[in-house]
Amino acid sequence: MTKLFVIVFILCVYCFTLIRCTKHKKINEIDEATLRSEQIIVKNADEAIIELKNGNKRFLENKLINYNYKRQIELSKGRQKPYAIILSCMDSRVPPEIVFDQGIGHLFALRVAGNVEDENILGSIEYAVEHGHSKVIVVMGHSHCGAVKGSIIGTELENLTQLLDQIKPSIKAYPGTLDIVEAVSKNNVKTTIQDILKRSNFISDHVNDNKIEIVGAYYNIETGEVSFLD
Ligand SMILES: [Zn+2]
Repeated sequence: MTKLFVIVFILCVYCFTLIRCTKHKKINEIDEATLRSEQIIVKNADEAIIELKNGNKRFLENKLINYNYKRQIELSKGRQKPYAIILSCMDSRVPPEIVFDQGIGHLFALRVAGNVEDENILGSIEYAVEHGHSKVIVVMGHSHCGAVKGSIIGTELENLTQLLDQIKPSIKAYPGTLDIVEAVSKNNVKTTIQDILKRSNFISDHVNDNKIEIVGAYYNIETGEVSFLD
């Protein structure tokens, strides 16, 4: 009877230790992943773009590390240091934080149909640049963009018309292209970059002083891949 009691006692201790170890391992894994995602410190635009490319790679491989939102809220509640500014389309299939696997506090994300600029977008980018932590502005277009399609076919609607008019100069540059939506989307990214620099001395001065870079990118809705444009 005593022998049986000892065996049961040893088994209980073993099971208790095993459960505790497994629990600790899980907690440590989450902390390690969160820690990695929190320590995004970039010195320049090249390093910022590498971070974004690595994030998109994790997204494509389904190896996300920025999933512990509760912890990220706790750690970012007193400050934010976003290392990149992303201007992208409102398309529901192009969420910047997800396609770049970024967490809370990592990006200033601005979204508007056709990723075009206006006074409010420019003011928001100026605020983000003034904030001082971001090293790159990324203007990101995407495949199958409804705003680009609407501009090509001449869609008209109350306030939407003037928005789509902004994309029209990008259509003229690509007559006869096979995939005109892709060509116009990429050209529209370049046009938006030029317009941002033309319309905001504050931003263009920071770019000229090498305090920040502005680059174009293109998201492929069919593959999830982001390519950075020349
Ligand atoms: Zn779009």
